[in-house]
Amino acid sequence: MLNTPLSKILRTTSAHLKQLKEMGIFTVADLLMYFPRAYQDESEFRPVIEVSTEEVNIVKGVISNLNMKHVRSGMALIKALFTDQSASIEIIWFNRPYIMQQLKNGDEVILSGKVKFEGGRVFFASPKFEKVKTEQAQTGRIIPKYYQADIKDSKYKISSQWLRDKIQPILYMADLFEEYMPEEILNEEDMISLKEAIKQIHFPSNLEALEKAKERLGFDELFFLQLNALKKKRDWQMSWIDEARDTMKIDRELLERFLLNLPFKLTKAQVKSLHEVLEDLQKPYPMLRLIQGDVGSGKTIVAVIASLLTVLTDKNLKNYERPQVSIMVPTEILAKQHFKTFNKLLSPYDIRIELLVGSFTAKQKRSILENMKLGLSDVVIGTHALIQEGVDFRNLALAIIDEQHRFGVKQREYLAKFGNPHLLYLTATPIPRTLALTIYGDQDISVIDEMPPGRQEIITRIVPESKRLDAYNWMKEQVKKGRQVYIICPLIDESDKIEVKAVTEEYQRLQKEIFSELKLGLLHGKLLQAEKDMMMHKFLEKEIDILVSTSVIEVGIDIPNATIMLIEGAERFGLSQLHQFRGRVGRGEHQSYCFLFTNSSSPDNVKRLKAMVQHASGFDLSEIDLKLRGPGEVYGVKQSGIPDLKMASLSDGRLIMKARNQAEKMLKIDPSLSRYPNLKAKFDFFGSEREGYFA
Ligand code: ADP
Ligand code: MG
Repeated sequence: MLNTPLSKILRTTSAHLKQLKEMGIFTVADLLMYFPRAYQDESEFRPVIEVSTEEVNIVKGVISNLNMKHVRSGMALIKALFTDQSASIEIIWFNRPYIMQQLKNGDEVILSGKVKFEGGRVFFASPKFEKVKTEQAQTGRIIPKYYQADIKDSKYKISSQWLRDKIQPILYMADLFEEYMPEEILNEEDMISLKEAIKQIHFPSNLEALEKAKERLGFDELFFLQLNALKKKRDWQMSWIDEARDTMKIDRELLERFLLNLPFKLTKAQVKSLHEVLEDLQKPYPMLRLIQGDVGSGKTIVAVIASLLTVLTDKNLKNYERPQVSIMVPTEILAKQHFKTFNKLLSPYDIRIELLVGSFTAKQKRSILENMKLGLSDVVIGTHALIQEGVDFRNLALAIIDEQHRFGVKQREYLAKFGNPHLLYLTATPIPRTLALTIYGDQDISVIDEMPPGRQEIITRIVPESKRLDAYNWMKEQVKKGRQVYIICPLIDESDKIEVKAVTEEYQRLQKEIFSELKLGLLHGKLLQAEKDMMMHKFLEKEIDILVSTSVIEVGIDIPNATIMLIEGAERFGLSQLHQFRGRVGRGEHQSYCFLFTNSSSPDNVKRLKAMVQHASGFDLSEIDLKLRGPGEVYGVKQSGIPDLKMASLSDGRLIMKARNQAEKMLKIDPSLSRYPNLKAKFDFFGSEREGYFA
């Protein structure tokens, strides 16, 4: 039985059982579902005559002349002769007396190990061995490698070898697993059965069978993730069906007029995203949409238009209250920047725009809050101050969250209390589409994957230490020509305090020793918000030539005259973050540059930094980062909602799309899964196992 406790079926010690429990493995099913992390192909036998001292050799033959001697300090030395059709070779095992009980002359065995050439003799040095059986577990085939429990006492260790030894004899019990995946899906996707997949994942017959097993088990995980996300979205939308929710009607004529007056033409990608948003706004359930677009791709204008059309919706609402819009951004500087942009673009219209930030006096805040509550302000742009106690709206219809990646996930709940407004997230973290489908599976996603025309390319260079002074001198020239510079200090893992110290020292060094005739500014996370704002303001007003900063600079600032971005210790940052930094320049008419300073010559780092030189698109870079470092490294595992999958790789876009399509189909055919009880049971279990990831 699959739910038989392992204590009833395994011949092992209670110490081992205790450890298994700590690994969450109690029953036969648990053990069979403990999948290998990797494989080693030991299926090819080499004739003894061809053994090599360079590689691991796997040979199959017969043991003879087995004998044990004790050498100095009582250490056991076992020797034997090994013979196959091609030749014989000596085997020497050091300090493994128990082998005398395990082997005898005439045994047919498979050996796997290194061959040494010493003192004029060639011999196998302490090879791994296994007797020839109908099914090998330890060598002579593709062998599985498992994560091992990390304990000191090797005698009781749940080692990879131990697991192979215990799993193989019970593997036939995989036949007891009931198939839950509908036959249609298995046929359509040409996938093997669950039983077969579980057997093959542990002890594959060949590499092709292993691939099929991985595909099937990985598909299942992704399928359940997608099914869950899509089901959540569907349930959410359905829950509004009976509510007599006002639907908006977009004033198309107003939209046309606005676009005519805009000094530029929207890109195709902007138009597409905008239309997706406008469609959503007219639906009887709240929008939940994420717009992904590279830095500078023009997300703000989409937000501006959505705000305009929301506030001045066609006035056919049942209970007419003028709809309000809130726009939340992570920093005060950005709030002010947006405030300016919105005012400029919306000034011809009868719309009252308000700014709400933490640095306002209590009196100022009170009056704004009052206006929001009474419905006198139409668009409120602010920082976290927008979701503080005491904030209320008369009729919040649309909530926009800019630089969404800078916030947690809590605002959604928070905003729900204002009658579930339409939600629009904007993010400049260009996550590959397939990964986004997994992480943000319950949201709709629009992508702005096109830059406004005429955007200049930023020249990116990797600068070795030997070129540092040249670079400084060149920068001085540029500053004399009127340009401005950002210098980002490396990411230091330890603490804010150390980081602040490091950036302060660097700032002082640069000011004193390198750029003594220029004006430098310093920015880091320990400064008060007002101090940071002041510094950015000075930089904007050109009172400062060079801004030395920690990574706090990252978010959406627009300073067109800054044309040089110098990043120290560039190898310490992820590609997406480097790309964000680079996006701070190239915003004006002048040619801009990004210099990546590094001392590292490790091939991985070089590869990543070279990608920065070669690629200008954040989407391309995020794909590369994902491949080079894996999703956990790139996005941080738990906080970003990246699920911990056992089999599937989140960089496998092809399989993700398959899973997505099948999940969509399933929800269309049978949204309650009532026709597929096995699938439903497994799906519910999958969800309960991953509490939190499905939050
Ligand atoms: P982001 O997507 O990083 O938030 P912004 O919305 O700040 O980018 O846009 C960057 C700049 O590009 C702004 O100055 C904006 O006015 C300009 N812009 C946006 N869309 C277009 C367009 N279609 N054509 C030309 N310039 C545009
Ligand atoms: Mg922006």
